[in-house]
Amino acid sequence: RAKRDGLGIAVFNPQDSVSVQDHLLLRGELRAALAQGQFLLHLQPKIFLNGGEQTRGAPMGFEALVRWQHPEQGLIPPGRFIPVIEVSDLIHPFTLWVVDQAVACCARLQAIHPGVGMAVNVSARNLLDGAFPRQVLDALRRHGLDPALLELEVTESAIMADPARALDSLHALHALGVRLSIDDFGTGYSSFAYLHRLPVDALKIDQSFVAGMAADADMRAIVRSIIEMSHTLGLTVIAEGIETRETLDLLWGMGCDVGQGYFIGRPAAESSAVAWLRDR
Ligand code: C2E
Ligand code: CA
Ligand code: CA
Ligand code: CA
Repeated sequence: RAKRDGLGIAVFNPQDSVSVQDHLLLRGELRAALAQGQFLLHLQPKIFLNGGEQTRGAPMGFEALVRWQHPEQGLIPPGRFIPVIEVSDLIHPFTLWVVDQAVACCARLQAIHPGVGMAVNVSARNLLDGAFPRQVLDALRRHGLDPALLELEVTESAIMADPARALDSLHALHALGVRLSIDDFGTGYSSFAYLHRLPVDALKIDQSFVAGMAADADMRAIVRSIIEMSHTLGLTVIAEGIETRETLDLLWGMGCDVGQGYFIGRPAAESSAVAWLRDR
């Protein structure tokens, strides 16, 4: 059952079977939350792992991760409400809000660290919306940001929901000069066979492989081969979920390009991102 508070707010837990009624109730709360400005972005840093001694460890950018600042329940993580937004049309205005905020923030960060990028998570329905690429371009123009500094993260399953239409959107987005990456790579049913046909720039190795690699030789072999095959295909490789120095060192040794994880920095408010950039 979904948990309710005094106002009848139901917060989604993936393990629960949520009734249709609770689902609709939460959807209504989320619509109001968007209108009332209750969402906020936390930023998690990414660093370069490759390059010479000078560039190694340099800031590459941030991933924008949404949170819901709920008036009674406090800060709610995205896993508890994104699944409800994603299956409704609310995903369109929601993602446009995230893109607008993330692009505006990235434009501000240029004053502190020129060239620093920003990644945003995009859902399956956004890729099926023919108006989306134009709206992304509008946000870039509004805030005067170089499209190459925006990265859109898409999961394999989002592409596979309707590959032909998703591919049209990906090509349109790529034509704007925006960077595209495959998120949670390795968790879907995809293979390298179709990757070379997608207009993507980067792969993010799923954190389950990264978390397991220090203790498990099989995981290390999987990560090593993802990195090697990505490089053969001309793709940048990003490892997420780096929690220890040991894992970071292993990835360095394997030639992984970019790293992200709690060991490098936790997702936090823009002011913390600014402080993190100034420290470097
Ligand atoms: P994701 O895109 O795979 O994001 C990575 C998640 O892993 C984030 O969880 C991040 O806080 C967490 N993480 C980062 N480093 C580490 C680490 O070293 N160890 C561990 N254990 N976890 C780490 P978060 O912020 O709770 O986000 C969860 C998911 O919610 C995201 O997974 C993404 O799928 C979704 N999400 C977040 N923001 C948005 C958004 O604006 N739009 C959409 N459509 N989805 C979003
Ligand atoms: Ca992501
Ligand atoms: Ca991911
Ligand atoms: Ca994930």
